[in-house]
Amino acid sequence: MELFKSTESEVRVYSRAFPVIFNRAKNAHLYTEDGKQYLDFLAGAGSLNYGHNNDILKKGLLEYIEADGVSQGLDLFTTAKHDFIEAYKKYVLDPRGLDYKMQFTGPTGTNCVEAAMKLARKVKGRTGIISFTNGFHGVTTGAVAATGNKHHRGGVGTPLGNVDFLFYDGYLGEDVDTLMIMDKVLSDSSSGVELPAAVIVEAVQGEGGLNAARAEWLKGLSDLCKKHDILLILDDIQAGNGRTGEFFSFEFAGIKPDIVTVSKSLSGYGLPMALVLFKPELDVWDPGEHNGTFRGNNMAFITARLAVETYWKDNAFANEVKAKSKVLGDALQSICDKYKGEFKVKGRGLMRGIEATHADLTGAITQRAFEKGLIIETSGPNDEVIKCLMPLTTSEDDLRLGARLLAESVDEIMQEGVSEAS
Ligand SMILES: *Cc1c(COP(=O)(O)O)cnc(C)c1O
Repeated sequence: MELFKSTESEVRVYSRAFPVIFNRAKNAHLYTEDGKQYLDFLAGAGSLNYGHNNDILKKGLLEYIEADGVSQGLDLFTTAKHDFIEAYKKYVLDPRGLDYKMQFTGPTGTNCVEAAMKLARKVKGRTGIISFTNGFHGVTTGAVAATGNKHHRGGVGTPLGNVDFLFYDGYLGEDVDTLMIMDKVLSDSSSGVELPAAVIVEAVQGEGGLNAARAEWLKGLSDLCKKHDILLILDDIQAGNGRTGEFFSFEFAGIKPDIVTVSKSLSGYGLPMALVLFKPELDVWDPGEHNGTFRGNNMAFITARLAVETYWKDNAFANEVKAKSKVLGDALQSICDKYKGEFKVKGRGLMRGIEATHADLTGAITQRAFEKGLIIETSGPNDEVIKCLMPLTTSEDDLRLGARLLAESVDEIMQEGVSEAS
């Protein structure tokens, strides 16, 4: 522990909330060096939708390594990449009527966001991007300009530009139609908001506090983009790969975004990998224009292919996720019912949590949960939302156990809070 504290940069963050040393992990559990078991409701911040060390993916990966399969391939043609593209088309894109080209970028979410924004600017010949309040799109300079979070923006040290922020669904209360404001601003050449190349949006804001846009809003946004000749970039890095109970988080709205960014659980095994999907007519890149050494993580291609072949060949897994979402939603609702006015359920699918009216409670609650063996984090501008992001493969028993540990933690902190006040 001392070595980390003395030598690893102060920039580390998750290890502050969970200061133990992990050395093993399986599906929804993490284990420490001294053998303590934790239930993992953080799951690599949503990059482990199929659990830690998924057996099916692991088997394929070990066989590939054993056979000296290509490991790093730049953007060379390889069998592993071929087979991934083929499977992704067959099980993900074609059944959803999505005709997209695929661009592999450097293997982080923020890098594929950079690529998406660059491409939109190049296609439209405009510099502006519209993002939404509480949106999170990564921390490199281009992507963080489209990120609302003050803390992340402040880390850059130079002015951030070329992004305007408008209001996400529900930001101004249930009764305000934020798209009407957007339409008005875009229709007025003197509004001060320049016509952008694209808008970038999450269907569920992961880091921004589990705000979930309604289907009508996403549909309206898509229509508005068409009306004003703006590209729609859907950032599905966190909400995608099955998290909401559908493969893509926007399917329920019946829209086909122009550009989609995918990462986090894409490889299925926690291996770094990122992908931009876009309509073929947008493919105006010159060779190597958005480059990157590690665009060919072939081990990730192997596990990513196995993930779609295993979990997305039919509706069984999606239905399982939907059933678990109901279990989780009900459990969270009962916490909120018990403490009326104190907590509210947020999010959609297995990307759900509770928002505390008193933001200062959440840190104590997640800390108490950790003491009870549950790893769970907060999100939102004031960390006011406790966010459940467990592997989609978590057993229903573990799901209920985690929800119970969370409920107990809430009870204890509410109790202690009340007794302190009296
Ligand atoms: C995590 C995340 C990113 C950034 O991905 P990194 O791999 O951390 O760079 C971008 N957008 C969304 C919605 C995310 O959740």
